[in-house]
Amino acid sequence: SQSMFAAVQLAPRDPILGLTEAFNADTRTNKVNLGVGVYYDDNGKLPLLAAVREAEKTRLEAAPARGYLPIEGFGAYNQAVQQLLFGKDSPLLAAGRVATFEALGGTGGLKIGADFLKRLAPNAEVWISDPSWENHRALFEGAGFKVNAYPYYDSASHGVNFAGMLAALNAMPSGSIAVLHACCHNPTGVDLSVEQWKQVVQAVRSRGLVAFLDMAYQGFGDGIEEDAAALRLFADSGLPFFVSSSFSKSFSLYGERVGALSIVTLDRDETTRVISQVKRVIRTNYSNPPTHGAAIVAAVLSTPELRKLWEQELAGMRERIRQMRVQLVEKLKARGVKQDFSFVTTQRGMFSYSGLTSAQVDRLREEFGIYAIATGRICLAALNSRNIDPVADAIAKVVAE
Ligand code: PLP
Repeated sequence: SQSMFAAVQLAPRDPILGLTEAFNADTRTNKVNLGVGVYYDDNGKLPLLAAVREAEKTRLEAAPARGYLPIEGFGAYNQAVQQLLFGKDSPLLAAGRVATFEALGGTGGLKIGADFLKRLAPNAEVWISDPSWENHRALFEGAGFKVNAYPYYDSASHGVNFAGMLAALNAMPSGSIAVLHACCHNPTGVDLSVEQWKQVVQAVRSRGLVAFLDMAYQGFGDGIEEDAAALRLFADSGLPFFVSSSFSKSFSLYGERVGALSIVTLDRDETTRVISQVKRVIRTNYSNPPTHGAAIVAAVLSTPELRKLWEQELAGMRERIRQMRVQLVEKLKARGVKQDFSFVTTQRGMFSYSGLTSAQVDRLREEFGIYAIATGRICLAALNSRNIDPVADAIAKVVAE
């Protein structure tokens, strides 16, 4: 008899995970993977933060039972998320205008937000940046939306095509959902200035759009508060909006899946009704979120010594990435590279659209064992004091010929 799976087609491989598989299979000892999307320390290792280790030790000793969390997650965690995003003294929090739900990473926050939006505005279309995080399109399409792209990256200037972006926002039908990277744009590393964000808020207001901010790298750009600047402008605007946020990077807790969805409403009564509906979305997807990661993050954020330690460790990650940006540019210059790479130091977060062509990326991999994404995206957090010279040597060679 015919198998029910006989007609199932093999899905295309995830391009980034595919690169990692090829990297793992490479037997060269000097290989370097710049294609990753995680922060490595100067030893090329994924760190376990000391603040996390401390909080885990305390939790292990307390040996808590593992009951279910409420559908919306751990209350102390959700409160800590709100304070980090909106500021401890935010009038929105005092007014009960923010509904926060613990989610399975930033991806989970996007997904429950998308599912709720689909129920709320079934005919709206979604707009993501061109380019964007590779999962944005598929995630919103998976929630049933038509997904379009607005201009964002300008390859000529290695910056933002802001005129194009603003024109696109101003041409969107009322009610459209605009997905915006709150800071440290993935994959390009180029962010809007505060002045530009003000114009984006104005466009969202005048066109009647729904802003959905994706905050996956708070603290990886200029600082915890600085990186929240765009979000704070939306908070001050009086508009309703959505925020997904993640501690995968800022706590190096990738696999624990700690993120959140926050929805800003116009008043406390709306918040109550929104919470009741989003809880239905969560209940029918995965019922309730996991305990461990949220308990650790909540403990770190609400214990003054651990909070201080975390802020220092986060600053250390941010500063190390910044140094890798500066050094890479200097080292390319020192190797006689004519092409101007100074834009790498003005980009923010873990990534850079380096301007390397896909042919140059191929050569880096084939001749030097250096892996990058075909778009030229490199992860600066994969560079370290041992591999940066060979990487600079190789880039200097492929851009010279
Ligand atoms: N959004 C953006 C822009 C990202 O870059 C990422 C992770 O790479 C995510 C969301 C997903 O984060 P998480 O791993 O917490 O689900």
